[in-house]
Amino acid sequence: MKVTEDEKIETRFGACPHDCPDACSMLYQVKDGRLTGVRGNPDHGFTRGRLCVKIKDFEKHHYNGERVLYPLRRVGAKGSGKFERVSWSDALTEIGSKWRAIIEKYGAQAILPYGYAGNIGVLNGMNAGDAFFNKLGSTIPEKTICASGTLSAQILTVGPTLGIDPESFAHAKYIVLWGSNTLSTHSHLWPFILKARHNGAKVVVIDPYRSRTAAQADWHLAIKPGTDGLLAMAMAQVIIEEGLHDEDYVDRYTNGFEAFSERVASFSPETVAETVGLDADTIRRFAREYANTQPSAIKVGVGLERHPQGSQGVRVIDCLPALVGAWRHLGGGLSQMTVFVPVNMDLLSRPEWINPNSRILNVIHLGKILTGGLAIDPPVKSMFIWNANPAVHLPDSREVARGLAREDLFTVVSELFISDTADYADLILPATMAAEHDDILTSWGHFYINLNQKAIEPPGEAVSNSELFRRLAKEMGMTDPHFSQSDEQIMRNALDWDSPLLQGMSFETLEKQGYVRLNLPSADSYVPHAKGDFPTPSGKCEFYSSRASHTDFVAPVLRQMCDRPVADEIDPLVGFPSLIKTVDTKKTGSLQLLSPKSHAFLNSQHANEARKIRAQGPQTLLIHPDDARVRELSEGNNIEIHNENGSFQAIADLPP
Ligand code: SF4
Repeated sequence: MKVTEDEKIETRFGACPHDCPDACSMLYQVKDGRLTGVRGNPDHGFTRGRLCVKIKDFEKHHYNGERVLYPLRRVGAKGSGKFERVSWSDALTEIGSKWRAIIEKYGAQAILPYGYAGNIGVLNGMNAGDAFFNKLGSTIPEKTICASGTLSAQILTVGPTLGIDPESFAHAKYIVLWGSNTLSTHSHLWPFILKARHNGAKVVVIDPYRSRTAAQADWHLAIKPGTDGLLAMAMAQVIIEEGLHDEDYVDRYTNGFEAFSERVASFSPETVAETVGLDADTIRRFAREYANTQPSAIKVGVGLERHPQGSQGVRVIDCLPALVGAWRHLGGGLSQMTVFVPVNMDLLSRPEWINPNSRILNVIHLGKILTGGLAIDPPVKSMFIWNANPAVHLPDSREVARGLAREDLFTVVSELFISDTADYADLILPATMAAEHDDILTSWGHFYINLNQKAIEPPGEAVSNSELFRRLAKEMGMTDPHFSQSDEQIMRNALDWDSPLLQGMSFETLEKQGYVRLNLPSADSYVPHAKGDFPTPSGKCEFYSSRASHTDFVAPVLRQMCDRPVADEIDPLVGFPSLIKTVDTKKTGSLQLLSPKSHAFLNSQHANEARKIRAQGPQTLLIHPDDARVRELSEGNNIEIHNENGSFQAIADLPP
């Protein structure tokens, strides 16, 4: 903590808690015990002192008058949002007695924990409850809401690599932002892209709509939704047919090239053009430019995976840098998920406590799980939800709401505000906001780990998630020393300081700087896969995955640490055996809806704040003028968008 004598302003290190690849390092400014400002940390090498619009006035969020400050018990009908204040002691006693009764009658499997990424952090994030629920023996929630497809693709092809340093994009000559609206969702990468562009690099954006980033690009390829993998297959076909691939790199550092070549042979640009929505000449030109302009760097976004066979499509993209030998060069290769950092997950989550008979339920099906649409025994009789708003962020939201409205479902929600999900809770527990607790935060978009220091006292009776699970453990009679660790003890052990990636650093370094950069060569010299060295079983980029053919491959589904194989069969060979089916909108008369991340919101956090809503503007539907004309829609019309699962209202927005 630094104190400025004149103004008596204390400064503490903060870290943005949003589920954002940039993971900004921040500075909390505190005067007389009050958070007076939140600034970017200028010393951080990637985020460099700038915070985005989503979090700029974060201090105001802490003092929002609508925060949940005390435990609340439901007094009205489920969903009515009527609650009364109760004591922590009463709330914990009620949870304990309800859970003991459920466990006695149905077993602990009838309890479903649900934590997600509304708040990031190794202490207070989505895994905060793992050890507690593993000890309790509850159902294991499989969290495939985001990134499992893209992470699986990455691991199957190039392995759990950090990829190129995002800061190395400054050295690239050809940059492909594939399904990434970088300016809105990874904005701290942009200065490195601009530097490259200043030095002559070309920036290509692949996105079905003209995002802010696409509008700034040198070339925007507006493909049809869900056809990214097909485009990559056609690129590979051109590159191989025209001999533009790096034969030496392919020979030495890849496997399965022959089989891959055969597979892509029938995916010429002419074959995929109509499905992808680009003409064949454009695809051919793109493939040639990508192969011939080195170093070429690809940034892969997360939207690509959210389509049928999306993960398989990402695998093809992941193979392109090896095909053209881009990895040889500084600034060449791929940046995807930089999550493979040395966190002691086993110490935090205690997978050894998992009941071997525990079932795994994929929470993407929560609606069906709660309403009987999935045959499960025992039924889910209680949910415990933290850092999450499943009533609005899961598919089939009508069914989720119907399930949450079940009178026999005992639901406890730990929250900052009364969210759409908390409306259905039997009990709401008050949670702390980032400046009110300690934590360590990793990133999925750069090479740094950040410290978040508690800067102010929590309001009312709000508690951190780490404290919440300590209290629950005590209530449930758990006496393992794990549950009596202080936050500082957990933080000191959270990272593997013996890992080569943290060599020469310690917890004290983190305390001194507010962040640590992984022990890797600088972005001006780091070329991780110039000579292969991929963390795959073969050490090569795997067009033919040796992991996929192993029955013990565990998809990285961001669930609790659990060493079980996935049931789905995975094609070991990259790509598709035949043209994938996409939605034929001409035939159905319907349209495909994309819901890209917005500029001012990252998730439903802040969605209760008038100034944030004002900044974002009303909900609009960007629709092609041709599609609007057929439906007799004009700019500014109020419209309803619906399908068999749900509906929403928006204002029609027609691009000029
Ligand atoms: S949302 Fe992302 S870019 Fe914005 S402050 Fe947080 S980490 Fe930084």
